[in-house]
Amino acid sequence: MDDSFNFDTLAVRAGTVRTDFNEHSEALFLTSSFCFTSAAEAAERFKHSEDYYTYSRFTNPTVTMFQERLAALEGGEACIATASGMSAILSVVMAAMQAGDHIVSSRALFGSTLGMFSQIFSRFGITTTYVDPVDLDAWKAAVRPETKMFFVETPSNPMTELCDIEAVGKIAKAAGAIYVVDNTFCSPAVQQPLKLGADVVMHSATKLIDGQGRVLGGALVGTRQFIIEKVFPFVRTAGPTMSAFNAWILLKGMETLALRAERHSASSLTVARWLEAHPTVKRVFYPGLESHPQYELAKRQQRSGGSVLAFEVVGETPEQQRENAWRVIDNTKLCSITANVGDTRTTITHPATTTHSRITPEARAQAGITEALLRVAVGLEDADDICADLGRGLNR
Ligand SMILES: *Cc1c(COP(=O)(O)O)cnc(C)c1O
Repeated sequence: MDDSFNFDTLAVRAGTVRTDFNEHSEALFLTSSFCFTSAAEAAERFKHSEDYYTYSRFTNPTVTMFQERLAALEGGEACIATASGMSAILSVVMAAMQAGDHIVSSRALFGSTLGMFSQIFSRFGITTTYVDPVDLDAWKAAVRPETKMFFVETPSNPMTELCDIEAVGKIAKAAGAIYVVDNTFCSPAVQQPLKLGADVVMHSATKLIDGQGRVLGGALVGTRQFIIEKVFPFVRTAGPTMSAFNAWILLKGMETLALRAERHSASSLTVARWLEAHPTVKRVFYPGLESHPQYELAKRQQRSGGSVLAFEVVGETPEQQRENAWRVIDNTKLCSITANVGDTRTTITHPATTTHSRITPEARAQAGITEALLRVAVGLEDADDICADLGRGLNR
């Protein structure tokens, strides 16, 4: 599709290919394999399997439409879809690295990503050094001759710390490392890392791209050379492939992504400001607030503050803090007590005892995750209703 179209147009139309029936909405191709008219055609198509449809572990037309659309939204040349966000991370590492290689990563990572680097890749001789994402000197100091990858997640979960994508990209380039940014928390509607120097954007499409909490999905976007020549051979062979059904759901998710992201951000800001003014709230962490230490960077790097915020309730001792935080959760009637983010429904969690309970108390303290901390992923309900719902437990 014409690259000159703007984001909202691409989100609705990019990648669409019609069959001879001229269906208006994208067709869902639930088929594991594709037929050939002759032995010679089969031979030809198997030889060039990236250009033809042969088998859905390799390629599928609905998945291709998803890939083309997401590549257009991120401003990348090519995209490979995967079964989940985690299988996208598996695929990029398998595509780019081998035993003996080294990753430099921000230390504030999604829990399973941390587990993948520390417990799984380490068994195959791939080591990781974790750095404070804000400390540029730490990124430089962590580089070794065998460093092959930089990995960044921004804003961080749950503290909403930002990593300067462009500045870290310069260090990655100087190190000759492939630079991967997990853009799950923002989506391309809010942040486009390829334009800031990332080599590869990784997604858990499970979150904002679906946006309605239905299916799992993942993706990698980058140059044609890297995606088609390095990632595609791994995904085609190993099979962490996205299902056609999930691709079809996620195509529909992308059509409303920009609208949803705008509303998520606007409501998050309303809730963050309301919390900041509340007498039993100690601190609020949200990149759209002027009080956020990296507010200026957020304005440069993101179109808006995003859909995730965190806040601390008051409390003298850790026990009191936990009691006060849990009281907020237990008095909600609207918010869902679940860890998903980027959903139409607002979700609330106590990171110290759920998503971040398995890391050591020292690592938790270093990350700033106290017993007083709550994380809210603001949904599409009325923002005043969300504030009132949080207020029930805060006012007691
Ligand atoms: C959810 C998530 C993942 C993992 O994605 P799945 O689709 O659950 O496999 C990776 N990174 C971030 C930032 C996430 O929120």
